[in-house]
Amino acid sequence: MPVKAISKQQALDTKRPVLYITERCVFILTDQGLKLTEVAPGIDIEKDILAHMEFEPIVADNVKAMDTRLFSKTAMGLANDILYNFQKIPRKKGKPMTLNNKNTLSNQIINKALDFGACLAGIANIAELKKSPSHLISEKMEEFLGVGTKQVKGKKQGEVHWPDNANSAIVIAVEHPLGAPDMDWWIKGLKGGTKGNAKLISVFSKLADWLETEKKIPYVKLAYHIEHGGVFMKDAAVLGGLGCIGKNNLLVTPQFGSRIRLRVMLLDKDLSSTGILDFDPCNNCKEYCRQKCPQKAFDEKVYFPEEYKLGELPGRTGKYSRIKCNIQMKKNTENGKDVDFEIAGSDKKGLEIRYCRICELVCPVGKSS
Ligand code: SF4
Ligand code: SF4
Repeated sequence: MPVKAISKQQALDTKRPVLYITERCVFILTDQGLKLTEVAPGIDIEKDILAHMEFEPIVADNVKAMDTRLFSKTAMGLANDILYNFQKIPRKKGKPMTLNNKNTLSNQIINKALDFGACLAGIANIAELKKSPSHLISEKMEEFLGVGTKQVKGKKQGEVHWPDNANSAIVIAVEHPLGAPDMDWWIKGLKGGTKGNAKLISVFSKLADWLETEKKIPYVKLAYHIEHGGVFMKDAAVLGGLGCIGKNNLLVTPQFGSRIRLRVMLLDKDLSSTGILDFDPCNNCKEYCRQKCPQKAFDEKVYFPEEYKLGELPGRTGKYSRIKCNIQMKKNTENGKDVDFEIAGSDKKGLEIRYCRICELVCPVGKSS
């Protein structure tokens, strides 16, 4: 097993927690020395630990019992714990993007993204993103391996590998309003594919320029494939405080429902996540999104948490068939039509495809705003 050395002083200086875990007890490193914080079930602190030590550690006032699962021969089910913690990240009441003063850089970045034309923006910390449902499940689902994944040398297929210097993700959203359906029409040959995506690219470029020139913060190049360094955008948006994952398997924002499109930029700055919102409109909804799907993509439970040893699944309740939705996408592509469009003065013909957005458009959230 490879060994990694750690400097005690450096850990203390940088306030990194250091634990010493043995089969009898757990110590934590403090400025005053080692402090005993947990003991294994049935262990006597005096007789079984202190009597065998060459120095006297500090003993915490409230020494806790070590997790009994550590001593069991069966799997501990840590994924559930991790996910539980993800779900337990404190929710922020009220509107997103109201940050406390400690996060002035985050505030500046979000405000700039809004100035440049984003309708929402937030920040997700990469360490927290690694505990999100999509990340935890990504290596376990065969279905996932077929979607947007590529073999990377030295990695299992589908294994997520964000760049080492990626510490936080800026998530920006642009609205695709009901009154401007053409923002979502895919036109082959148009930069970005859709008008909405072209707008996202423009906001993204301005923000990247501002970060580099004004703030001297280079952004980390984001790959398309997840395992090459791409990100789970919806999970990042949840952590960034933009909304929640709805029963339509999409991000639902309080202001615009699911009628938004996302883009993400990675930074090497270690910024805190700006979410999660205390917001869930699906609990008391009649599930219009699921009822109206022409392919009945939400009619069956496709994924079972027990199968993946997770407490929560992407798609919210495991009721979403990507395969059925893809059938609809294929139909939409077949029905695409030739259109004229202008690119830098040219009059090329392009293929316009209007993909299904029913589960997004029928959602009532944000329509009164
Ligand atoms: S239609 Fe209802 S259930 Fe579906 S995403 Fe919107 S709020 Fe949630
Ligand atoms: S995009 Fe259309 S086909 Fe796909 S899940 Fe939504 S409603 Fe169903």
